[in-house]
Amino acid sequence: MSKKILCKYFNKFLGFLFPPACPICSAPVEIHGELCGDCWSCFDWIDGPHCAICGYPFPDGYEPNANAKCPVCASGKNELDFIRAACIYDDMSRSVMLPFKHGGRIKFAKFMSRAMIWALRDLDIKPDIVMPVPLANRRLFQRGYNQATLLAREIAHAYSVPIDFDSVHRKYRPNMGHKTNAQRFEHIRGVFDVAYPEKILDKKILLVDDVMTSGATFAEMARVLRRAGAAEIYGVVFCRVVRAE
Ligand SMILES: [Zn+2]
Ligand SMILES: [Zn+2]
Repeated sequence: MSKKILCKYFNKFLGFLFPPACPICSAPVEIHGELCGDCWSCFDWIDGPHCAICGYPFPDGYEPNANAKCPVCASGKNELDFIRAACIYDDMSRSVMLPFKHGGRIKFAKFMSRAMIWALRDLDIKPDIVMPVPLANRRLFQRGYNQATLLAREIAHAYSVPIDFDSVHRKYRPNMGHKTNAQRFEHIRGVFDVAYPEKILDKKILLVDDVMTSGATFAEMARVLRRAGAAEIYGVVFCRVVRAE
């Protein structure tokens, strides 16, 4: 019997022992790691018109042309070439993000990263490397894992490119509680260092993070990567904060 057929039978046996279940509510599903329809419909997926550069969703009823940009991108202030997010940060996405980030619920990574791949569908990009936003070592030791690396795995696999999780290092800075957007940009300035610039030079880099609040983290990563000679920089997150206009 060939290895392939053996593998198929083994997977069937595993599926019999551990039937696929929705990672949120445990309802039966077709494929391991997928959400059931009810849980899927609770998220506010970004599937309408959005900024061609940063993916910011336009208000309901607004019908822009295909390359319409938000005011920030139109003024050339975005540090990244493109950004996309799968859904909006709200009570539902928060109820998944917090246990994923701080409670060890790493089983959420599969559906989150698949949703992020879906969010990139309108972009014809070909990254050379996928780079999770690094954690400071002290946080990595406390948490035991970097949630962005868990998300980056499936995304790198989808593009058939390697993950780079050591070219950029992050210094430890204590959290300061609630911050304004301006304070976030100030707080993160100078926190990243490129340890291996030769791995960055002329590369198209897809940055991966779980959530985007002000965009300060991506902007600062992009600033140091461009200084190190990166060719293009894209970013993708599971959810992003969208403030009411
Ligand atoms: Zn469910
Ligand atoms: Zn934009």
